[in-house]
Amino acid sequence: MEQKTFAFVSLGCPKNLVDSERMLGKLAQEGYALVPEAAGADVVVVNTCGFIEPARQESLAVIREMLALKEKGRVGSVVVAGCLAERKKDDLLQEVPGVDQVLGVFGREEITQAVARAITQQNEQKMVFRPAPVRALEDTARLRITPRHYAYLKISEGCDRTCTFCAIPGMRGKHVTKPIEEVVREAKELAADGVRELIVVAQDTTYYGLDLYGRVRLAELLRELHKVDGIAWIRILYAYPMYFTDELLDTLASSPKILPYLDMPLQHINDRMLKRMQRRVRRQDTEELLATLRGRIPNLTMRTTFIVGFPGETEAEFEELVAFVRQSRFERAGVFTYSFEPGTPATRLEDHMPEDVKTERRDRLMKAQQEVALSWSQAQIGKTLETIVDGPDPEAPGHVLARGHADAPDIDCHVRVKGKGLQAGDIVTAKITGADGYDLLGRALGAVR
Ligand code: SF4
Repeated sequence: MEQKTFAFVSLGCPKNLVDSERMLGKLAQEGYALVPEAAGADVVVVNTCGFIEPARQESLAVIREMLALKEKGRVGSVVVAGCLAERKKDDLLQEVPGVDQVLGVFGREEITQAVARAITQQNEQKMVFRPAPVRALEDTARLRITPRHYAYLKISEGCDRTCTFCAIPGMRGKHVTKPIEEVVREAKELAADGVRELIVVAQDTTYYGLDLYGRVRLAELLRELHKVDGIAWIRILYAYPMYFTDELLDTLASSPKILPYLDMPLQHINDRMLKRMQRRVRRQDTEELLATLRGRIPNLTMRTTFIVGFPGETEAEFEELVAFVRQSRFERAGVFTYSFEPGTPATRLEDHMPEDVKTERRDRLMKAQQEVALSWSQAQIGKTLETIVDGPDPEAPGHVLARGHADAPDIDCHVRVKGKGLQAGDIVTAKITGADGYDLLGRALGAVR
C-alpha cells in the first residue's frame, strides 16, 4: 500500500511539545511518513496552544493556513489537537469548519485513528475528548523534535492550584504525578537516544508526588534521575514557590548533574496582588525562599516571570514590583501583561485596566530587568563556565552556539564559543572573553566531555 505522509506543527509550551513527540512516535510506528512541509502531505496535524489570547490567535492562524492549503488541494486533510481544541471543544468547528478531526489534550493517544479517519474522510466521528486520566499518560516511544542532545521530561500533568488568571487546570485537569519508576524509564529511553541534558517540566514541578504518594517526592525523583547513565545535565523548569524541603535543597545543592538553575514563576510580589491572584504565598515567604535558595545553592541562576496590569494593580503596587526586581537581581525574567481569560475567576474582578496601561507597565518592568540581566552578562567576563554545544554559530565561522548552566533552550541566551571540532551535545568549558548584549562570548578550554 502507498505509504501515507503527514506533516506536524507543534505549538505552545514544552509540555505540549512532549505530547507532540508522543503523537509523532505513534504515527511513525503506524507506518506514516513524516514530511517537512504540509504542502503535498496526506494530512497535517496541528498541536495547538490555548493558554492566553495571543497563543490562541497564533494557533487559529496556523489552522487557517493549513485549511487554505487544503482548499487548494495541496494537503489532504487537517487534524487539530492540544489545548485550544480542549478549551474550545465544539466551538472550534464553528470557527474553523474545514477541520477534519479534533482531538482534545487527552485524546492524543488516539491520534492514529483520527488521522486514519481524516485521510479516508470517514468523519462521522469528528471529535475525540477524553476525561483527564487518573494515571499519568506515559511519554515513551517519542519521535523527538528537539535537537538530539536535550529533551523535555514531563513528570506530571495538570495542576491543583487555583491561580485566578490561569486557564490551564481547565485544559489539563488536576495534578497527576507520573510514578517515579515510569519517569526513570523514560529518562533511560531518552539517554539511550543520545540525550545529555534532561529538562524536567510540569505545570507545577515542586508539587511532584503529593497527589500520588501523599507527600512531595521531587528530591527522590531527582536523585534517581541523577543515576541515569548518559545524562550529564538536569535542569528544572516551572517550580512553584512552595515545597522546597530541606531534602530538596540538599539534593539541588549536592548533585553535580542538577544544574544550579531554577525557573520559578512568581507572577507578582505585592501581597494584595498575590491574594487577588490566589497564589497562596506572601511577599515574606517569597523573599525568605529566595534567600534560602541563593544561600544553599552556589552560583544559582534564577529565572522567573511576572504578570503586570492585573485587575486592580495600583501604580504603587506596580512600583513595588519594579523595586523588587531591581533588588532581587533575577538573572533571567519574563514579563507578561494580564490576559483576560474567559472562564477564569480573575475576569470577575473589578478594575480591569486598558491594554496601553498594561503594555506601558510591561515595558517599564522589562527595562528594569534589562539593566539587571545586562550587568549579569558583563559580570561573567573573565569567568570559566561549563557549556553545552547546540550547533554551529551561523553568524561566526569557527564558533559554536552553546548554552551555559544559566541558559535553558529557547527561553534564555547563548554562549558563542570559539573552538575547533565542537559538535552538538559536546560539553566544553569556556573562558568568557566578552558579552554581546545578553549573550556571552568565549573560547573553548581543554577537553570535551
Ligand atoms: S500553578 Fe497557577 S499558573 Fe501555574 S498552571 Fe497551576 S494554576 Fe496555572
